[in-house]
Amino acid sequence: MPKLAVLGQPISHSRSPAMQNVALAELGLAGEWTYEGIEVAPEAFDARVRSMPGEGFVGANVTVPHKLAALAVADQASEAARAIGAANTLSFDGSRIAAENTDAAGFLDALPEPPNGKRALVMGAGGSARAVAWALTTHGARVTIWNRTPEKARALAQEFGTSVADPGDEYDLIVNATTVGMGTSTQASSDLKSLPIDADALGERHQLVDLAYGAVETELVRAASARGARVVDGLEVLVRQGAASLRIWTGMDPPIEAMRRAARANEWQPKKDPRT
Ligand code: NDP
Repeated sequence: MPKLAVLGQPISHSRSPAMQNVALAELGLAGEWTYEGIEVAPEAFDARVRSMPGEGFVGANVTVPHKLAALAVADQASEAARAIGAANTLSFDGSRIAAENTDAAGFLDALPEPPNGKRALVMGAGGSARAVAWALTTHGARVTIWNRTPEKARALAQEFGTSVADPGDEYDLIVNATTVGMGTSTQASSDLKSLPIDADALGERHQLVDLAYGAVETELVRAASARGARVVDGLEVLVRQGAASLRIWTGMDPPIEAMRRAARANEWQPKKDPRT
């Protein structure tokens, strides 16, 4: 029976097992294929991955904090994973490990229209910002980077041949790839003010993608939607990256709508990390 998993630490909050098991059932693979969440500490990651093919695993998603290690442990990596410097999807062929980054493809699939020619602002310079900046630059957008720590924005802009944000710049597409808004709960008041955008200035001509997601919509998504911007939230990007991974493992067309429903199921609540 082929097995799949998501590896991370913590992992109890992950929506991927629910979403991927619904997808497997929808594809008629329930009872044949399984997908589980496995908590792995950083020091145990390499050994855990290498033991997986022998346990019947054919692939794995990889999330925080293992995306760099996932690229390092692989015998081969896609151009995207190498350029981004991180992998979120592993496939096992015998003991051979292949790495892919579907965060980039998932982001592009979530966009309502192709980004070529658009003036894009990427906020953040961490792992997901790298995936987004790579996806946008390789698909013809004019990318500008902003980051709370400016040196990291400069370094990323230089590496990808893009520019750093200047006050007064205008954008068509704005992407939040910072942790601002992450894990939004009903009580949370997010620190939107630390981002370089004025929510009041957003309007119908803007497209906003917020990678962060939580139990309720983020303040950024709420503010942008209220002003008529076209909005893609973090759950849609999560669904699309998961769908791209599933296509790699099964070779089948993923059931996007069922995955979307599972990712957004009301009964989901973030579980408290038992170690905290
Ligand atoms: P990283 O830890 O790699 O990067 C974090 C980024 O957030 C850095 O640029 C950091 O800036 C910035 N940051 C942190 N705190 C603040 C703050 N208070 N104000 C402004 N900027 C801040 O994280 P990832 O790139 O892996 O993840 C970023 C977000 O994207 C998370 O919310 C994550 O959940 C989400 N994500 C969603 C996915 C999806 O499928 N929807 C996929 C992957 C990620 P600095 O350099 O100054 O520290």
